[in-house]
Amino acid sequence: MKDRFGREIDYLRISVTRRCNFRCAYCGAGEAGGEELSPAQFAAAAAAFRRAGIRKIRLTGGEPLIRGDIDEIAARVNAAAAPDYLAITTNGVLLKEKAAALKAAGVRGVNLSLDTLDGDCFRQLTGADALPAVLAGLETALSLGFDKVKINAVLLRGVNDDGAEKLVELAREYPLDVRFIELMPAEGGEQRNLMIPADELLRRFPFLKPVPGGDGTAAHYSAPGFRGRIGMISPVTKKFCNGCNRVRLLSDGRVKPCLGQAETYDLRPYLEDAEQLYRAVAAAIEQKPAGHHFERGARLAPMNTIGG
Ligand code: SAM
Ligand code: SF4
Repeated sequence: MKDRFGREIDYLRISVTRRCNFRCAYCGAGEAGGEELSPAQFAAAAAAFRRAGIRKIRLTGGEPLIRGDIDEIAARVNAAAAPDYLAITTNGVLLKEKAAALKAAGVRGVNLSLDTLDGDCFRQLTGADALPAVLAGLETALSLGFDKVKINAVLLRGVNDDGAEKLVELAREYPLDVRFIELMPAEGGEQRNLMIPADELLRRFPFLKPVPGGDGTAAHYSAPGFRGRIGMISPVTKKFCNGCNRVRLLSDGRVKPCLGQAETYDLRPYLEDAEQLYRAVAAAIEQKPAGHHFERGARLAPMNTIGG
């Protein structure tokens, strides 16, 4: 369905938990528990979103693979909402053991967050000594033949940006997209101004040329001999709110129509009644605001609470 600004909303991100086994410097994840919907409740909500026009669903968090029932969540959401595309975003540390079950449950795309290929830097950024486990997860995902495997990387000036070349090389070697996401200001996240604008980063790679196939958020680039692409996602320097097609369902059953919005719409009172649930979902989508306001100094809630 369309929101009040005429944007077609067809993409739902479901945060299945706020909990995380990493503490990425930029994310703001702290001790965060709280109520979490069951697989059946996520499925009921997803069915209502489908009726409201959602065609693509991504499971995220916190760290979604922390939930022991993540494959059941995926299977139930897939059955209830029959999305054209079901994907997951993960830090990858548990991916090796869970990838096959996710694929069997209908997950077709995996986004793996990987900000550096240097073990010490990885530990410094994430608080976890887990680079080998994450790389093993990546290898497993590639070998299982998901429709798409993508790497998400956030660069912080002077922290991990000197490793950007090695991340770019992954797209030469493997059939995957490596997407650089501009650092967004999140509460509890890295406070200093360490964001590297996408244009500045691109100037470091003059051999990368634009290729078609943008999905509204990422601009894509490639070079001869590359098996995958480089994506630049610029929520700060090239605000894409006008073309935004997404809404978010939080792990406790509240809808957050916009990343930059404090207001949420609670679905919990309606989870048992499909008709009321649909009306609540449609009302939340309708209320999606025009966009975020980083340019006025706005900060987002910690990203683990909203799913990135
Ligand atoms: N734990 C999973 C992971 O890290 O992939 C899923 C949740 S995480 C919040 C989703 C995405 O948000 C990750 O790719 C992460 O890099 C990104 N992210 C977190 N904080 C961010 C920030 N302040 N600016 C830009 N991206 C951020
Ligand atoms: Fe956890 Fe993902 Fe946030 Fe890192 S970015 S702390 S892995 S939720």
